[in-house]
Amino acid sequence: MTKEEQFWSRFLELAQLQLKDSAYDFFVADSKLVKVDGDTATIYLDGNYKELFWETNLKNALITAGFEIYNTDLKFHFVFEDLPNSHHKDSRNSSLSSSATEPLPKIETGLKAKYTFDNFVQGDGNIWAKAAALAVSENLATTYNPLFIYGGPGLGKTHLLNAIGNQILENIPNARVKYVPAETFINEFLEHLRLGEMKTFKNTYRSLDLLLIDDIQSLGGKKVTTQEEFFNTFNALHSDNKQIVLTSDRSPDHLDSLEERLVTRFKWGLTQNITPPDFETRIAILRNKSEDLDYIFPNDTLEYLAGQFDSNVRDLEGALNDISLMAKVKKLKEITIDVAAEAIRARKNDNTQMLVIPIEKIQDAVGAFYGVSVKEMKGSRRVQNIVLARQVAMYLSREMTDNSLPRIGKEFGGKDHTTVIHAYEKIKSMVETDDNLRLEIQSIKKKLN
Ligand code: ADP
Ligand code: MG
Repeated sequence: MTKEEQFWSRFLELAQLQLKDSAYDFFVADSKLVKVDGDTATIYLDGNYKELFWETNLKNALITAGFEIYNTDLKFHFVFEDLPNSHHKDSRNSSLSSSATEPLPKIETGLKAKYTFDNFVQGDGNIWAKAAALAVSENLATTYNPLFIYGGPGLGKTHLLNAIGNQILENIPNARVKYVPAETFINEFLEHLRLGEMKTFKNTYRSLDLLLIDDIQSLGGKKVTTQEEFFNTFNALHSDNKQIVLTSDRSPDHLDSLEERLVTRFKWGLTQNITPPDFETRIAILRNKSEDLDYIFPNDTLEYLAGQFDSNVRDLEGALNDISLMAKVKKLKEITIDVAAEAIRARKNDNTQMLVIPIEKIQDAVGAFYGVSVKEMKGSRRVQNIVLARQVAMYLSREMTDNSLPRIGKEFGGKDHTTVIHAYEKIKSMVETDDNLRLEIQSIKKKLN
């Protein structure tokens, strides 16, 4: 054995002792020593994204082996393509180039055709997420990479992710696109690992042009080796300029159970938040979805429904399903408020987000929050804090209950319905720019739910 060979086999031995088999197979097995020149060892890795792993996990093994064989502190230099003057004319080189000409594995896109940009209703809460998603589907990997979309359940994250994929395939039919929930990614990875088919797995994922990963928060709590595989896939695609879009139920800063370096990478691109739809957007969504149904939904029914479910689009859809079912059974054509109320009763009863809040309760809660009495709210004094409390209470009465505008006006000491509209519009536009007010209103709402 030459000294180089001794050094390398000693290093491999140490690495094998130190790493789990799967990590060794993946990170070390395909590497090789190019040469040791003076005190510098040049090492070939079959992907530049592996360098970080070597730097963090294998430096000690390299130094130890170097010291044992060369009796000196070696330095290490990583290369990612075979050097032309390499005297290791081994099989690796030819197998690499032949794998490049192998036909690419077929992709199961995993996309649902029904989720498109066309049927995604835009509102204040999702406008930026939608804009970013559109930008990505017009310009893969040149705009935002990765794009990270987060928001609560039922707010359209999965819908947007699919819309990107569907749009890309419409523009570029042979693009390699894959939608996968993070959980499924993990299961596939483990399955391929178990069957010794990691190559297929890697070939599939690393040949993509666009990877859409849903619910990344579910990687939390998984073993480090599994997160590692995702990390590697991410790096391989990203450094290859391939587009990645991720969704999560929380912001990157709150992904506590994920490895820090993963989270760091999520923040390389653009992060967009989706917040719950406001009243008007809920009506627009209901209108949009009810147009596909065989029943007539008058405006006041839509408004009523929009007042019943305030934070989750999935619930709005569920309500429409309940109503369709009942209308079918009862052979109804037009959906009145009464019919709607009856149809959604069961859903509301087992739904913690249901809202049957009397205006009185809203007035109490808002009054307590701002230190204003209900009497003052119902009065007409125009002192600043009273006006604010009054308007917030009107705003919430419109948003959280199914009372008509005149009815709300009446509950506020017999005010005109235009006063209620004015208050509603004013608070609504303030909330958009005033973070404090938004938080105040959120905390009042919490007390009411
Ligand atoms: P998430 O993944 O955020 O939990 P989904 O994307 O699964 O939410 O959305 C739940 C349901 O609500 C889906 O059927 C989706 O089509 C619908 N939806 C959500 N937001 C919108 C929207 N802005 N316009 C139209 N439909 C929407
Ligand atoms: Mg989802």
